Amino acid sequence: MAGKPARPKRKPARTAVAAKCRFCRENATDIDYKDLNVLHKMVSSQGKQFARKRTGNCAKHQRMSRRAIKRARHIGLLAFAG
Ligand SMILES: [Zn+2]
Repeated sequence: MAGKPARPKRKPARTAVAAKCRFCRENATDIDYKDLNVLHKMVSSQGKQFARKRTGNCAKHQRMSRRAIKRARHIGLLAFAG
């Protein structure tokens, strides 16, 4: 039989990851406003903060990150949006 050649099986796009906010996984009680490596992952290149859907933060830690980003902006570590 000259059927279609068997296609290679597709890999799943994403493997299952524990659906938890990164700060919850570390049991973070506070987000350091001087830690730019962390803050840069939560703002765009223009300085806008990403939504929870994008960052994966829970509501509590998104509020904490919002405060940390504002503090970092105030002392000139991050850019103001717009
Ligand atoms: Zn969290």
